[in-house]
Amino acid sequence: MLPFEVMERKLQSALSLPRYIHTMGVVKTAKKLAGRWQADEKKAMTAALLHDCAKDYPEQMKRRFCKEFHVPIDPVMDQAIDLCHGPLGAEVARREYGVTDEEVLNAIRYHTTGRPEMTKLEQIIFIADYIEPNRNPFVGLEEGRVLAYEDLNLAMERILKDTIAYVKQRQRPLHPLSVEAYEYYQKKNKEGFHGA
Ligand code: FE
Ligand code: FE
Repeated sequence: MLPFEVMERKLQSALSLPRYIHTMGVVKTAKKLAGRWQADEKKAMTAALLHDCAKDYPEQMKRRFCKEFHVPIDPVMDQAIDLCHGPLGAEVARREYGVTDEEVLNAIRYHTTGRPEMTKLEQIIFIADYIEPNRNPFVGLEEGRVLAYEDLNLAMERILKDTIAYVKQRQRPLHPLSVEAYEYYQKKNKEGFHGA
């Protein structure tokens, strides 16, 4: 794996300025959340740094690299190609930045859609992406920021719920993994409250 500073410089040339600023907010937030939840800070910062590394590629480049790196484009991703920037980003992190840690790669892979049974690191990146300080205010952001430090599973449920509602409202294609993740966390949190 490249040293953090080298990855940072390489990444800066691959991202627009607003995306780079967003990314540095995610790095800062992921570090704090890793401290709060006893996760590996270095892994959290690496995953945060690279989470959007493929996001600013133009559509045709996304499609070409998905093919080249054997990243399957499912029918929903085909409808909303931006959804591939998680799985594609993981492959770019592996091939271009030398990341070999599968936990870090999965945190990048699932940061947009979520999935059921996410690891602590995956949850931290998913949540940090949503609550980082440079986000423009939107409904649910402050609740997300509070929950992130109180209970990771509740934060996941809330953020997934708001994300799904937002995607539906904009009539954008909704990825089935997000629905599965939401149902998983909803059920998990309900069971938790009943001491199951
Ligand atoms: Fe992203
Ligand atoms: Fe992001």
